[in-house]
Amino acid sequence: MNQNAMRGLPAVHRLLSEPAVVAYEGALGRDALKALAQEALERGRAALAAGHSYDASRALLADLEAAAAAQLQPTINATGILVHTNLGRAPLARAALDAAARIGAGYSNLEYDLLDGQRGSRYERVGARLARLFGAEDALVVNNCAAAVLLLLDTFARNRECIVARSELVEIGGGFRIPDVLERSGARLVEIGTTNKARVADVERALSPQTALILRTHRSNFSLEGFVEELDSRALAAAARRSGVMLVEDLGSGATIDMTAFGLPRERTVREALDEGVAVVAVSGDKLFGGPQCGMLLGSALAIGRMRGNQLLRALRVDKTTLAMLDATACLHESDSTRLEIPLYAMLAASLEELQRRGEAAIARVERGRLVETRAAVGGGALPGATLPSLAICIESPDADAFARRLRHGRPPTIARIEDGCVLLDLRSVLAAEDAALADAIAAAL
Ligand SMILES: *Cc1c(COP(=O)(O)O)cnc(C)c1O
Repeated sequence: MNQNAMRGLPAVHRLLSEPAVVAYEGALGRDALKALAQEALERGRAALAAGHSYDASRALLADLEAAAAAQLQPTINATGILVHTNLGRAPLARAALDAAARIGAGYSNLEYDLLDGQRGSRYERVGARLARLFGAEDALVVNNCAAAVLLLLDTFARNRECIVARSELVEIGGGFRIPDVLERSGARLVEIGTTNKARVADVERALSPQTALILRTHRSNFSLEGFVEELDSRALAAAARRSGVMLVEDLGSGATIDMTAFGLPRERTVREALDEGVAVVAVSGDKLFGGPQCGMLLGSALAIGRMRGNQLLRALRVDKTTLAMLDATACLHESDSTRLEIPLYAMLAASLEELQRRGEAAIARVERGRLVETRAAVGGGALPGATLPSLAICIESPDADAFARRLRHGRPPTIARIEDGCVLLDLRSVLAAEDAALADAIAAAL
């Protein structure tokens, strides 16, 4: 290698002591910094040997910025989509975080019965609370709703038939496809009806001695309109009872209350499904429940008991902090006032006046932008197409894409949306506690 060219490069320790580089140490750690510096110098040696110029500091800072952006970090959600799967779904309530810290920091009676000093059940406590809350006989908690459906199918339909309407054979985000999950669980899919219509008579015709389950699925992220016929829930439950086949439902979003209270369309609740005769309902913990990632199975004591005895449960089990957070969130759902302590419900309930006040304060701080009326979405496959009135800070910029990129690369990263060449920062999905950070992020990006 050409020694003269090498002289253009700083030593590693020099590079690592530059203040702009040191600034990344907290986020990335000393070892990662050193490794990236060595890599940058290596590339520099190759560049210089090839006769190119090379600015080692600049190259390293670009790498550090990319590495810092790749870290898991708090991000401001100004997209107007409240349950945003890519942005971590539901923000957790203070009480849930406190419970995770209290239980996670030490030992707990997770699987220990304090009364008689013997091994206890990991699921009993929260199971009892969830059963009460949702009006089920019993409840079980697993990793996520996908795992709940898998456990359900594996327990009851392995090597047997499971009836699903073609209009409900959906793919939910993240590659969760009902037909694929069925296949993985060893259940045989029996499709009934057409893409737009399904009747109880279709289900009855498909019943055979091999039928183990009738599975209903919430369409979550799309809706059917026009020449459509849905399975009548009560009639279906009656048909299932007559034939001695279990009716189960993948409800997904997990609403505990009627969402029309927030100006949203009616959403079937777990309680309604159970009241109509569904034997087991599966829902997510981090959608409309507003809690940690988990899947809840709610239903008859007999069915839940069978699933609790399935070996597969061991591979799907949740840890102590999840159970602590879930229990704390379930407590908050017990009354309308405490439910508002769940960030998702505070965001759903925020009045337009409140959003206006917050938006105006941010605009005054930034000295740019104006408020525009928007529609925020619940998202997360919870209520397809359902939106709420909202307000957004609109920033006009000659290059909206570049401005949105600067927001994304900011601290904290802020995710906006672009409409008609304007960058919109929707206030309904921004936590009130983040307002000052949002204003600062906008100012920095400008
Ligand atoms: C979201 C959803 C799932 C997947 O839930 P995860 O908790 O992400 O596994 C499954 N089924 C339905 C109907 C859903 O809406």
